[in-house]
Amino acid sequence: MKYANSIVDLIGNTPLVKLNSVTDGIRATVLAKVEYLNPGGSVKDRIAARIIDAAEAEGKIKPGGTIVEPTSGNTGVGLALVAQQRGYKCVFVVPDKVGEDKRNVLKAYGAEVVVTPTAVAPDSPESYYGVSDRLVREIPGAYKPDQFSNQYGPLSHYETTGPEIWNDTDGTLTHFVTGVGTGGTITGTGRYLKEVSADREGGPVRIIGADPDGSIYSGGTGRPYFVEGVGEDMWPDSYDPSVPDEIHGVTDDESFAMTRRLAREEGLLVGGSCGMAVVAALRVAKDLTEDDVVVVLLPDGGRGYLGKIFNDDWMKSYGFMDGGEDTNVGEVLR
Ligand code: PMP
Repeated sequence: MKYANSIVDLIGNTPLVKLNSVTDGIRATVLAKVEYLNPGGSVKDRIAARIIDAAEAEGKIKPGGTIVEPTSGNTGVGLALVAQQRGYKCVFVVPDKVGEDKRNVLKAYGAEVVVTPTAVAPDSPESYYGVSDRLVREIPGAYKPDQFSNQYGPLSHYETTGPEIWNDTDGTLTHFVTGVGTGGTITGTGRYLKEVSADREGGPVRIIGADPDGSIYSGGTGRPYFVEGVGEDMWPDSYDPSVPDEIHGVTDDESFAMTRRLAREEGLLVGGSCGMAVVAALRVAKDLTEDDVVVVLLPDGGRGYLGKIFNDDWMKSYGFMDGGEDTNVGEVLR
C-alpha cells in the first residue's frame, strides 16, 4: 500500500515544469517550481512544518497551546494544517488588503482570523504586527512563530527547496528566481544553491529576487502595491541581503498581466507573486543562451485571487487593463 501517514508528510517535493509559451523568443530553459501543489496550496507549508517542529523541540509550544501569527494567509494555512494535526489552536492577524476568500480558507481549517488596516505605520498598535504582539501577551500558552524573524523559515528552504531544485536539475541550473516577502525562500534556497555550486565549472548559481515596485528590497520607500505576499516596508531578520545577486522591481501591472498569461497559456492558475517572479525570470532569461537553466519558484495558486486578478471588473477599476487584456504584456520584457 502507498499512503502518507498524515497530510503533513506530503509537504515539499514539488515538481518542476517547463514554461513553453510565455518564454517565446527565449533560448534558455525556464522551469517553474510549482509550490501550489503543497497540501496547503503554497510554499509556506514548508516553513510552518519546520517552525512548529523546532518550537516543540525547544519547548516553546506545549499541548493545548495557541499559535498567534501575523500572516497574509499562506503561512496561516500551513500553520493551521500542522497545528490541527498536533492539537494546537490558531489565531491569525491579516491586513485588510488580503482577500476574503483567503480569510475564509483560514477559518475553514479551524483558525480564528483578526483583520487589521493596511494603511497604518508598521510600529502602530493598530498594525498587524502591533495587534499580534498584544494577542500573544493576552492569550495564555500563546506562541508566536514570527515568520519575519524565525530562522527555521529560511532553514526549511535550505533543507528542502534548495536540495530539491539542485537534484531535479541534476545540478545544471544556472539561475534561481523567486519573489521576496519575508525573504525566507530566497535566503534559504539561495544559500543552499550557492554553497552546493560554489566550486562548479561555470560558477555558482546566480540568485535573483523579484520585488513589487515600491517595496524596499528593490529600492522603494515601502509605498503600497497590490501584489500580495511579497515586498516589505521594513528589513526582516528572515532576509539575508548577502544572498541575492540581483533584485528586480516589477510593477503590479506587469505582475498581473503575466499572472493571467500563466493561467491562459501554461495551464498554471497561480497567484500574483508568481506572475511577478516570472516577469523577473524572463527579464533575466532573455539575455541567456540555450545552455542556461532558469528555475523560477511559483509560491501559490490562483484560486485565492479569483475576485481580483482574474476578475476583469476589479482589474479595470484599478486601471490594470486600460486598453484591453494584453496592454501590458509587451512591457514585461522591457
Ligand atoms: N508569494 C506569496 C503569495 C507569499 O505568501 C509569500 C510569503 N510571504 C511569498 C511570495 C514570499 O516568500 P518569502 O516570505 O519566503 O520571501
